[in-house]
Amino acid sequence: MVGKVGVGGTAPDGMPAPVVVQSMTNTDTADVFATAQQVAELYRAGSEIVRVTVNTREAAAAVPKIKERLAQLNLDVPLVGDFHFNGHKLLTEVPECAAALDKLRINPGNVGKGARRDEQFANLIEIACKYRKPVRIGVNWGSLDQSLLARLMDENAQRAAPKDATGLMREAMVASALESAAQAEKLGLPGDAIILSCKVSGVQDLIAIYRDLAAQSAYPLHLGLTEAGMGSKGIVASTAALAVLLQEGIGDTIRISLTPEPGGERTREVIVAQEILQTMGLRAFVPMVVACPGCGRTSSTVFQELAQDIQTYVRARMPAWQLRHKGVENMTLAVMGCVVNGPGESKHANLGISLPGTGEEPVAPVYSDGERITTLRGENIAAEFRTLIDAYVERKYPLHS
Ligand code: SF4
Repeated sequence: MVGKVGVGGTAPDGMPAPVVVQSMTNTDTADVFATAQQVAELYRAGSEIVRVTVNTREAAAAVPKIKERLAQLNLDVPLVGDFHFNGHKLLTEVPECAAALDKLRINPGNVGKGARRDEQFANLIEIACKYRKPVRIGVNWGSLDQSLLARLMDENAQRAAPKDATGLMREAMVASALESAAQAEKLGLPGDAIILSCKVSGVQDLIAIYRDLAAQSAYPLHLGLTEAGMGSKGIVASTAALAVLLQEGIGDTIRISLTPEPGGERTREVIVAQEILQTMGLRAFVPMVVACPGCGRTSSTVFQELAQDIQTYVRARMPAWQLRHKGVENMTLAVMGCVVNGPGESKHANLGISLPGTGEEPVAPVYSDGERITTLRGENIAAEFRTLIDAYVERKYPLHS
């Protein structure tokens, strides 16, 4: 079960499996066409696992059809079904849904109440065992198991030095995940088919909880802030939290739960996840474009336009490049605003260009592997630099056999 669905372990070369990028759709899962379309977009953007909500019988019935449609598009996308409240019922009534999914996500706080909770949890685990599906036990602080919380509050009150509310919440999150995992194993689910997550929206809470989880168990961990927020706030908060944990070797799959801006692309969360891993040097997905921030020496928008043009260009070229050119994702490009730092930064990149700053001679020196190879000038600098990039890729990255 290791690998494809991001449950940790080791890669075929014996190295630790790379951290896997995950995302989630926001279409109505019952709408087969729209959901398959969005899954395809997320997958093509680089999401290696995609989660879909399964909240109704119609949504459950749609899952195998979504899989079929993806297969018609020649896309083998691991799908995770997200279940709350009625997962046991849906998976029993629509077994094809369980068969089609690659992983089940269940939230121990939303499995059921009182005595029914254990019974419904057992149903879900039996189905996972029957269809040999891994399970992510995904605790969320917005839906923490209330009976467990009440029990821990009682225990806490008996302590000589009781924890404060924050400490207790963190303890309850970890306990909910670990107790549910132990229960699942007792019911027959293999330990290597269990992934844990404990999502909160506070950066310090997330770091503290995952450090505890990692210290107390060997299960693979799915990382992400829940409700990270919109725009730069969501990106910064997610990066701040995940960077600390990833640096400590904690985390097997990640998801960036960005709120899309109205009309914004859902694939943004995938790009942010990739950029976190790539800028940390953990994985490479797309050639990186190093660009300076610009300053009073770049008084026109030409430099910003070139930086944006090149960034968009390499991402657009990547699907074709990666089929043919091994290692191209490690290429670095520099697009700099003037000759103050431009040539120096360009020499560190595989290919770099420095545009003329205000008042400088209107020429753009280009460096390749540390050597100045040409000087571009005139109106077509962007197109000519793109041609140089293509030629560099052809020359430097071996063709896949
Ligand atoms: S490289 Fe030039 S344009 Fe860019 S920030 Fe530095 S001085 Fe300004």
